[in-house]
This record gives sequence, C-alpha cells and structure tokens, in this order.
Amino acid sequence: MALALEKDLDKLALKLYKKSIGALKDHELYGLLLAFSKELMRNKKEVGGERKVYYISAEFLIGKLLSNNLINLGVYEDVENIMNKYGKSVALIEEEEPEPSLGNGGLGRLAACFMDSIATLSLNGAGIGLNYHYGLFKQVFKDHLQMAGKNEWIEKDSWLNKTDVSFEVEFGGGKKVKSVLYDIDVTGYESGICKLHLFDLEGVDESLVKEGIDFDKEDIEKNLTLFLYPDDSDEAGNLLRIYQQYFMVSNAAQLIIKEMKEKGYDLYDLDKHVAIQINDTHPTMVIPELIRILTWDEGFTMDDAISTVEKTCAYTNHTILAEALEKWPLSYLNKVVPQLVPIIKELNNRIAKVNKDPKIQIIDSEKRVHMAHIDIHYGYSVNGVAAIHTDILKNTELNAFYKLYPEKFNNKTNGVTFRRWLLSCNRPLASLLDETIGKGYRRDANELEKLLRFRDDEAVLEKISDIKKKNKAVLVEYIKKNEGVELNPESVFDVQVKRLHEYKRQQMNALYIIHKYLEIKKGKKPVRPITCIFGAKAAPAYVIAKDIIHLILVLQEIINNDRDVSPYLKVVMVTNYNVSYAEKLIPACDISEQISLASKEASGTSNMKFMLNGAVTLGTDDGANVEIHELVGDDNIYIFGADSDTVIKHYEKADYVSKDHYKKSPVIREAVDFIVSDKALKIGNKENLERLYKELLNKDWFMTLLDLESYIEKKDEMLKDYEDRERWKRMMLTNIAKAGFFSSDRTIAEYNRDIWKL
Ligand SMILES: *Cc1c(COP(=O)(O)O)cnc(C)c1O
Repeated sequence: MALALEKDLDKLALKLYKKSIGALKDHELYGLLLAFSKELMRNKKEVGGERKVYYISAEFLIGKLLSNNLINLGVYEDVENIMNKYGKSVALIEEEEPEPSLGNGGLGRLAACFMDSIATLSLNGAGIGLNYHYGLFKQVFKDHLQMAGKNEWIEKDSWLNKTDVSFEVEFGGGKKVKSVLYDIDVTGYESGICKLHLFDLEGVDESLVKEGIDFDKEDIEKNLTLFLYPDDSDEAGNLLRIYQQYFMVSNAAQLIIKEMKEKGYDLYDLDKHVAIQINDTHPTMVIPELIRILTWDEGFTMDDAISTVEKTCAYTNHTILAEALEKWPLSYLNKVVPQLVPIIKELNNRIAKVNKDPKIQIIDSEKRVHMAHIDIHYGYSVNGVAAIHTDILKNTELNAFYKLYPEKFNNKTNGVTFRRWLLSCNRPLASLLDETIGKGYRRDANELEKLLRFRDDEAVLEKISDIKKKNKAVLVEYIKKNEGVELNPESVFDVQVKRLHEYKRQQMNALYIIHKYLEIKKGKKPVRPITCIFGAKAAPAYVIAKDIIHLILVLQEIINNDRDVSPYLKVVMVTNYNVSYAEKLIPACDISEQISLASKEASGTSNMKFMLNGAVTLGTDDGANVEIHELVGDDNIYIFGADSDTVIKHYEKADYVSKDHYKKSPVIREAVDFIVSDKALKIGNKENLERLYKELLNKDWFMTLLDLESYIEKKDEMLKDYEDRERWKRMMLTNIAKAGFFSSDRTIAEYNRDIWKL
C-alpha cells in the first residue's frame, strides 16, 4: 500500500510540477498533498438517502484541512512515512496551508465539528454557508493594542471546488445579484463524503478593501462576501448583515428546492425529505424565504406553505445574552427584503391573534422583529447546547415559549470531533491510547473509559505526563518563533483561549495575574513558575473587550521585563488565535481556564478539547463545565464562584454593586487599582486603562469582582495540588478517560435520533 501510494504521489508530482517528490519545495509539497487528497475524495461515494439535513450556519470554522483529511482518508501514516523519507513531515507541510477564515469562534467551530461527524456517521447531510474572502479579521498587536487587517486565505489551488450552481437573489430597490457556489468536500473518518456548500457573490470585488478592514459597506453588489460579521455599530453595518443573511438563506432555499425537484419529490412532501437546522438566529430568514418561494412560485396557499415549512425547520439557541439575540428593525427589513415583510407580518399576526403576551410576539411594540421568536413559533424543535443552558432557556429566558410548546424543547450538549482534537493535534497521546486501550475509541469515544483501568499504573501515568512535557516544549519553540517570547517549559501552563468577551472574564484572569505579580514583588514566590497564556480576538467595535486586550498586553510587558518577577511569572497573549493555534496550545495546557460568569456560557467547547488532552479544568459551574464536573467528580476539577441561580437572582433584583466588593476587600482593591497605577500608565494608554478601571468599579456587568476572591483561592489551591505530581497525573488520566461523552459523534447521533430522523 505504502509503495503504491509513493508511486502515485511521484506521478502526481511530475504531472503538477515536472519534478519528483524529493525536489519539491514545502509549498509544492502542500500543493501535491492537496491535489492527492482531493483526488481520493473525488473517488469516494457521497452519502445519500431519502431524507437530508441541511445545516445552515453563518460560520464554519473548519481549520486547516490537510492532516485531518489524510487521517479521515486513512492514509496519514503512509503519507507521513513517505514524507519522513524526504526529511519532511505532514505537520511541517501543513504550515504552508492557509487557515480558512470562514468563522470566528465556538459556534463556527461547532458547525465544523458537526460536519465531520455527519460525514463520519454516514448521515445524508450538507452544510450551507458563505465563502468569506477575509473572514472576521487578522489580528496583530501594535503599541499594546489590537489592530485588524484582512485575513486572506483563498489561493489559486485550495480545498474549494467551483461548481456551476448559481442563483439570483433579489433585494429591495430592485437590486439583483448572482451567486456562485463553491463546495468543500468533508470526508468522515473512514467513511463517505458530505458537502459543505459555500455561496459566494459573483461580482465580489476584493479591491473594495483599502486600509485595514475598511470598505464601502453600501456597495452590496460587490461586498457581500468580503467579511464575516462586518462592524454593525452603524446603520449601514446593520443593513449589510441583513443583506448577507438573506443572500445566504435565499441561496440555501433555492438549492434545497432544486435538489427536491431533481430527485422528483413533491414539494408538499418537503418535510418528509428535508430537515433544516438553523444554527443560531443568523439563518432565520430561511423560514419566510421558503414560505415566499412556495407561495409565489409553487402555487402553495399560505396555510400549506406555513404548515410545510414549520415541520421542516429546527432551531439551535447558542446564547442567552440579550445583545446576541437578533432583533432587526422592521424598517431595515423593509429596505433590504421588502418581499419578506408581508410574510413576517402574517407570521406575527397568526400568533398575536391567539396570544397577546408581549414576551412572545415576533414584532414588538417598537416595531423590531425578534428573529429567535420566528424560529421558535415556526420551527418544530428548539434546542440548547448544554444541560444547564437548556434548563435556563426552559425555566427563565424562554419560559413563556416553553409553556406554549414544551414538546419542542430539547437539549443537545455540544461535542468536538476527536479526529481533529485528539488524533490530529496530539498524535503522541493518540498512540499511547492505541497501545493501552486499543483503537476502538477512535470509532466509539466511550471506550476512552477503559483508560481508567490504568489509574494506578505508574508507567502509563508517567507516559501521559511525559507527553504533556513534550507538547509543552513544542509550544515553547513555536511561541518563541511567533511571538518572540521565551517561556519556561518546566512552569505550569495556564491557558485561556476563546473569543474576548466580558462574560468570559479574561479580565478576572488578568486581575489574578496582577495579584500574583504584587505578591511576588512582596517576596511571596510561587513554588513553581507560572505561565499565563491568552489568545483572543475582540470584535473591532467592542471597546471594553479591546481595553481588556490592552491590559493583558501591558501586563505582559511589565511582568516579562521585571527581573524580580519574570523567573516566576510570565504572560503571553498569542497573536491571531485561531484553530491552528488552538491545536498547538491545547495539547500543551495544564490548567484550562473556563471562568465565565455562571449562567452566561451556553456550553463552551474548548473546555472539552482541553479535558480530552489531559488538562484539568478551573471553572465556574457553567455551560458544559457542569457536565464535565458530573463526569469526573469533585476530585478531578476545580470549581469556584457563584452558581447560576445566585447570578440570575442578582440580575432579577439588580442588586449587584461591584464597588461594595472593591471596598470590602483589600486584595480586590489592590489588584483593581493597579490598572491605573503609575507603573501601568507608564506603558499603557490612559484612555483605555481608565475606561476599563471605571467599568469594573461602576458597572462590572459580568460580576468579575463577585468571584475574584474565590477564583484566587481556587487557583492557588490548584497550583499547590500540581506539586502532588502523582495525584495530578491521575487527574489528567481521569479527565482523558471521561471525555468520551463530548465526542461530536454522540451529539450528532442525538440530533439525528431526536430532531432530524434521517
Ligand atoms: C474551540 C474553539 C473556540 C471555542 O472556545 P470556547 O472556549 O468554547 O469559547 C473558539 N475558537 C477556536 C479557534 C476554537 O478552536
């Protein structure tokens, strides 16, 4: 097999580059393996069936595809051996691959994991999204501030396959645009192929982008697929998001109907052949759009169209943060999609006629359209993404809806694909697992539990700990090269990587670091050095989030250059955190920071990836942490802070006063005051630091100061326990062994069993 494979590769190298493998440069090797993988995938069967799920999502944060595809195609080892013969490795060659900028965070990464699992479970499904040319943005730091540039990724040869599918999409004011469909093949683990359909704008014009990420937001005939989540702090930005969303769902609806017709199905049987999963509220307009097409073009009555569509669409809720539940002014929709407005009004009237409760109306008294409300009334399933999150939806946030439609509500705890987050990113650990418990866990993640038999096996524990050590050494090299920061591989690696948001509370971690810094300055040195690693992008219009990045970069500068402190404490914020960086950071982590304000993190998925790679969680009882806690037990996780009931009560009573905590506690005072100390202001900007200081003192909407003391206490307890190496190694092992539940294969099997029924 390996020999035949080498011959094939050599032949392909000659064809593509007129050179043999040994003469190829790294980028050509990447081109070779890209072409080779695509050929293998072309020869694979596409999964089929009588009923199909369309997973519509504004984001698919798929990451680089080379290693993952080689693993799923079952040829990774052979290819690796061949590359080794030429002094290369797949990992090295993969450095040449640009990471697709098709998503921005957990929601997009979830969609990518789901595609992998849909293909792996051989389910008849496809993803539908947009082909953004520059993604969210590429992050760089300058003068301790985040700067944004375009995140280019599309090269002449890429995983994108251009198709001849194209649709016309019409907007208000007679504007018409055409789409072009690109597909990315998603190969499951030793199984068939599914398609990720990415619609692009035929007339997209990259030259519209001048400085950084600025472009003409109003030139929608040219700009629709340039960026993901363009700045929506003004009206033009809001309108552009609606244009993008309609462009996505109109293409989706047209594609679904085209496929129904090609298969000869009766459109009245749409719900028998199609399930549409609406990932968060961004694709909500697919509901009125399908109703529009069925009534305008296909002769349906309004009643028939509505009853067909409501049996077809299902909605996933990802957040209870009010700002993220989209509410579009009716006047905006009138401008962008006037053809949907009468349908949305009809949908609204049908509800309003029978139920006057203002909490459940689609159009509110201020004439804003609540997108989630369309999904809940006119979809057949509403799911949350972790047990506690679904409970909060049922009992608090969406309680009025739950009382109306209890049968629609269900929970689907998130998961991650173990192909990428174990087999690909941590090959040494995967090999150890193969040796100890066999390869069965690769198909059935629950088999990871077999590892528990080795809880007291010194040799296995030692190997797990050695792998962590090696992964840390690899990361140290990488960070040195990419960030210019020197880290100590013997230190404890404490990692917080995720989007920057106040509810995720990177600011609390920063305050801990200040506290530690001040303690060391006073002579209280930690027994082992601590390395605090951050990675996070802040939305360009999110002022406080950017201030928090500023504070962390200022701390990095102060602490790493302080000769008294830096041997014991180091801080690094890595640049442009993305999937590729995550794959390097997560296998090297000791302490996984999951410290959101309880009730606010719907699930989190990095918590699962960290656990799977042998990190121990430091977290609040929030999101999927709650389920991790249940699985590993009190002895293998560190939980602190107010619980979700307490937090929800504070919000209800509006009785949280951050200044009270500041006044009461000298520890809090000292840490918070440091933000505007001379030392900090010497390096940082007065404007940013003072704004953040005032925010914490006078507002602190996500209650950082409420939990700061218990956070410091718990983290110090954890650092102490780290020195009990035997105990820590057992904690690592237990976390790995109990991670099987968080395989996205389990999640997708549940979606299929309860919602899609393929
Ligand atoms: C997993 C992942 C996330 C989600 O992280 P959370 O901590 O769950 O918010 C975000 N970004 C990237 C690149 C990821 O891989």
